[in-house]
Amino acid sequence: MRKPKVTVIGSINMDMVTTTSKVPNQGETILGDAFQTAFGGKGANQAVAAARLGADVAMIGRVGDDPFGQLLLNGLEQEGICIDSVEPVTGESSGVATILLSEGDNRIIVTPGANRCVDSAYIESFRELIVQSDVVVIQLEIPLQAVDYAVTICSEEGVPVILNPAPAQTLSVETYRRATYLTPNESEYNELFTTFYEELEEKLIVTQGANGVQWSEDGERKRIAGHTASVVDTTGAGDTFNGALAVALARKESLEEAITFANAAAALSVQAFGAQTGMPKEEQVKAFLN
Ligand code: ATP
Repeated sequence: MRKPKVTVIGSINMDMVTTTSKVPNQGETILGDAFQTAFGGKGANQAVAAARLGADVAMIGRVGDDPFGQLLLNGLEQEGICIDSVEPVTGESSGVATILLSEGDNRIIVTPGANRCVDSAYIESFRELIVQSDVVVIQLEIPLQAVDYAVTICSEEGVPVILNPAPAQTLSVETYRRATYLTPNESEYNELFTTFYEELEEKLIVTQGANGVQWSEDGERKRIAGHTASVVDTTGAGDTFNGALAVALARKESLEEAITFANAAAALSVQAFGAQTGMPKEEQVKAFLN
């Protein structure tokens, strides 16, 4: 059987995580406790989730021409993701998240670097790939004009597109209308969608952390509860949800079946440290649901 084709358009970052008992003041240098790098960026995370769950995944994004760029490309390739549409940008850094993990006082700087070069012209150059996809997924860590452009291509070409409006930023209501599904978490929903609720009701799939997922279908409000999970780290739960939803919809499952699958995959993902580490394989989700 042909694998479902999912194309993820979005960010690719290297997360640089320093654990420290305190954060430095201005002008101060301190010794940290531990340092770790991890592959991240919402786009890359969602691509990895979809690949582990059995889709044929292509990533549209960009990395820098620094050593991180090659590591990020290798990481995607090792997950079986097609990186033909991830072109390095000359003279630009890769996207980097500098994360200070300190008890009760986490501080994060995200420097988009090459992710800023995922512009409309770049997306247009991969129109063929987009057209051949069963489902496209996109988030908001690339220029918003490019998000508008990509969603417009999908709606013109009749390709289902999941728009994950994270991190929360306002797009035009036309873009929301063109998206097939919108997948905010609760705070993104409250910030962006309450005024458009009625019009967008049948597109909205609102994730509610441990409480599960709420959506509307055929005029009826639906909800599935979250699974009980032994939580280690919820980072990447939303990304796992979106990647899994894309795979199930690409397999032509019903919306309710697809949300059930994604809710289970996301619950499994919170049981390990790091965004990508805990993302489950297809067999694990099936076993969990049986
Ligand atoms: P994050 O930013 O932590 O990656 P998010 O804020 O984008 O996540 P959430 O709504 O918190 O998104 O979580 C997405 C989905 O992950 C939920 O709808 C649910 O299916 C699952 N999930 C998240 N947290 C838990 C939990 N503690 N227990 C079980 N499932 C969870």
